[in-house]
Amino acid sequence: MTTSSEERQTHRVCLVHYHEIGLKGKNRSVFENQLVRNLRHALKGLPAGRVSRIAGHLLVELEDDSSVRVVADATRKVPGVARVSMAWCCERDPEAYNAAALEALHEAEPFETFKVHAHKSNTDYAAHTLDINRDVGAVLCAEFPDKRVQMHHPDVTVTVLVSQGSAYVYAAGEQGCGGLPVGTAGKVVSLLSSGFDSPVASWQIGKRGATVVGIHFSGRPMTSDASEYLAQDICRALSPAGVIGRLYVVPFGACQREISLTVPQSLRVIMYRRLMFAVAERLASIEGAKALVTGESVGQVASQTLDNIAATNDAVTIPILRPLSGTDKQDIIRSAQELGTYDISAQTAPDCCTLFMPRRPETHARMPEVREAWEMFDHDGMVEQLIADIEYVDFDNCPSYKPPRQARAFHHELAPAGWDVGR
Ligand code: ATP
Ligand code: MG
Repeated sequence: MTTSSEERQTHRVCLVHYHEIGLKGKNRSVFENQLVRNLRHALKGLPAGRVSRIAGHLLVELEDDSSVRVVADATRKVPGVARVSMAWCCERDPEAYNAAALEALHEAEPFETFKVHAHKSNTDYAAHTLDINRDVGAVLCAEFPDKRVQMHHPDVTVTVLVSQGSAYVYAAGEQGCGGLPVGTAGKVVSLLSSGFDSPVASWQIGKRGATVVGIHFSGRPMTSDASEYLAQDICRALSPAGVIGRLYVVPFGACQREISLTVPQSLRVIMYRRLMFAVAERLASIEGAKALVTGESVGQVASQTLDNIAATNDAVTIPILRPLSGTDKQDIIRSAQELGTYDISAQTAPDCCTLFMPRRPETHARMPEVREAWEMFDHDGMVEQLIADIEYVDFDNCPSYKPPRQARAFHHELAPAGWDVGR
């Protein structure tokens, strides 16, 4: 029979540390509450219990002690988490925290040097932290006679945090992904291909607190819908971080065909990209998003020269965030591997990028020619048509995502029968 963690005297918990939230002054509680909500959501279905605020940390209760690692691993992937300690929660008496400290130091092996760091989050416990340090240290030295106490940069620090009602003792832990809780920085619309770059870019902006709405342009009806499934798989792979609430899919092939028949060949790619940005900007206004995000990196491919970046920016007024603009491909690939999107992006599927590509794309577009080409087709009509044809998939891992009212009404009108259109 399992008992609740409150009934067990000494039991394991995860203690969540956050850095940047601490810097936010009056907003602190907004950030903490959002992180609590995001953690509760991310830990659904795992053997975790309550998530609550204690003494400048968040506390994640566990269904049983053996769950500590699996819960810590899920916790550390949530933006805003700087570190997760696999702690013991015990009574505030020396016998209990000495015993927990022994277990904590055993769990932290192998090591050569250690120290004890006691602190109190309130003053209703009589013992002084220096005395706690000394007493716990004596117990640990007796158990580990071969190890050295070292005050500066020890291999392991055993922390004893005495708070109201309980003590928390920890040594081992995992580094969190850092950043800020998703949902504290407003919404962005992220142009999500099935390549390596844009998933990493989306995650990076999500990690700065933005709620991400994806938009994927597929080559349908001129290509299969394979890239759309890869884009969905990418959203699912990012789900432990809880950054993407919804993915919109735009069948873009017919417009590309029309553009390819109309504008000078060398400017095709720039026109496709201007149209993608214009559709994304329109979606951002429906969603109430404040910026677009792309995975562009300066000089990576022909369309990403500074001239061409300027030529595409010119089609919209909304800010465009390019978090990878100065990042090398190697580093992007490494991030994709860590995030779990690499294997999905490594699969090839024709999307709108592979359709109607010119033999020699322009690398240094001149603005007058770009604007002239832009007027050669009904771009405003295309934006409206593409928005009318848009489809979407929701992902239940981003509690801060709220679908816009306008989009709900809009989808009730447009969604095919049987679609799940509303919340
Ligand atoms: P990625 O850059 O994501 O690895 P890619 O290399 O195939 O994909 P690029 O030609 O580098 O695409 O495009 C630059 C950026 O434009 C992408 O990072 C992405 O933000 C956006 N983009 C390109 N193709 C698409 C698409 N089919 N749907 C949505 N956005 C796209
Ligand atoms: Mg790219």
